[in-house]
Amino acid sequence: MIKPASILLILTAAFIFLSSCTNLHKQEREMNGVTSLRPHSGSIPVLVNKYSSLPPGYKPDDLVFPNVPFLFTEKIEKRMLRKEAASALELLFQEAEKDGIFLAGVSAYRSYEAQQAIFNSYVQAQGIEKAKTFSASPGTSEHETGLAVDISDKDGKCPAVDCFGQTTEAGWLEKHAHTYGFIIRYPKGKEDITGYKYEPWHLRYVGPRIAAEIKERNIALEEYLKAEPVITKSDSK
Ligand SMILES: [Zn+2]
Repeated sequence: MIKPASILLILTAAFIFLSSCTNLHKQEREMNGVTSLRPHSGSIPVLVNKYSSLPPGYKPDDLVFPNVPFLFTEKIEKRMLRKEAASALELLFQEAEKDGIFLAGVSAYRSYEAQQAIFNSYVQAQGIEKAKTFSASPGTSEHETGLAVDISDKDGKCPAVDCFGQTTEAGWLEKHAHTYGFIIRYPKGKEDITGYKYEPWHLRYVGPRIAAEIKERNIALEEYLKAEPVITKSDSK
């Protein structure tokens, strides 16, 4: 004879089990991209572009100074990255050195306020329409996520400029960055999807699993997340 209390217990357990299955199913469906995956601001695969901005004043809560050389020595904001990305960058630099590739950071985190100040100064000087063609409005620069970093060779011959694409350092990054969880965020030939011209120096941390898939399928982050392509082109970074 089963007591009513036991029946209640079994029913509760069954309910919890079934609802967790439903949640799992929902997550899988989103992960497989049947519906557009829109990760929240603090998540590692967050999408930031001209159509998808961070909330005003967003600031990651786990920013640290990665122990890698930058082209400047000051311990300032633009040297910071989120913890997971910082550790991955340290590993990437160490492994690059084993191959005789010596890298340096140019610029990493940028606060919403800093981006706002930069953008506003361009707006004042040249007007909003012109400013928008070469500078990201606040909330839409990937550097505000704390997951993006511009890289150069250690001497800074081509710091975040086109000639970096011809360097052995860029070649090494193209081949190996995904192993450490980074993607070349604005690849060649994807300008009408990312909204940016080719930037071989701009690395974005998405984690090793997603980075490997993006590299393997030769797609942009927008394609991975089944997000709307950004058709407007610009020179901003
Ligand atoms: Zn950049």
